[in-house]
Amino acid sequence: MKQSKILNIFLLGLSGAGKGSQALLLKSKFSLELINTGDLLRAIAENKTVFGQKLSAALKKGHLAPNWLTNYLWLNKLLYIPLNKGVILEGSPRSLEQATLLTEVFNWLGRTNYRAIYLKVSEKEVTKRLLARRICTNCGKIVSLELNPTLKKCPYCGGKLKCRADDTPDAIKNRIAFFHKEVKPVISYFQKQKRLIEINGEGTMEEVHYRILASLKSIK
Ligand SMILES: [Zn+2]
Repeated sequence: MKQSKILNIFLLGLSGAGKGSQALLLKSKFSLELINTGDLLRAIAENKTVFGQKLSAALKKGHLAPNWLTNYLWLNKLLYIPLNKGVILEGSPRSLEQATLLTEVFNWLGRTNYRAIYLKVSEKEVTKRLLARRICTNCGKIVSLELNPTLKKCPYCGGKLKCRADDTPDAIKNRIAFFHKEVKPVISYFQKQKRLIEINGEGTMEEVHYRILASLKSIK
């Protein structure tokens, strides 16, 4: 396949909009390399270094990592991915500054076929989803208590479940406010470039996945 035809995706949406599960489905559907800046940050925050602890304290308050750090993390991964592989980015860009840098790098690399997919989910729905979200301390899988509120152990491995440090009501509110201030301009930016695909993110994981596939098909 010609490099300019290889699909690259930026997934946008509020936290709790289902970016994680849709990213995994798209990754396997199109054999994409996944870059998840949130996971990269959380891995650093678990380090017992001064840097890790400082980042951990900031994330717990619902603060975001500085632009230079997220930029460094995705760049450091992106630049080593073979150009015959498409990339899916989850968690970036989260500011207009990042979006500009990102498109500059993608264009420079010749990854010119990129789309921003915006998973649109109401604030009420994401808050409900995030408060019911648990992460397995053993296998790292994310499970939801929405259908099974009394779940105590990971259904995949039996591991202990915990809340993600930033899934508290206050931190969720902060992230929603941040989204309006910083990510909405990113959405307009891609819309102006005619590279935005807006998807209704409510419903089951499969329903949303098929909506995305249908939209991608219609633009080719
Ligand atoms: Zn588990």
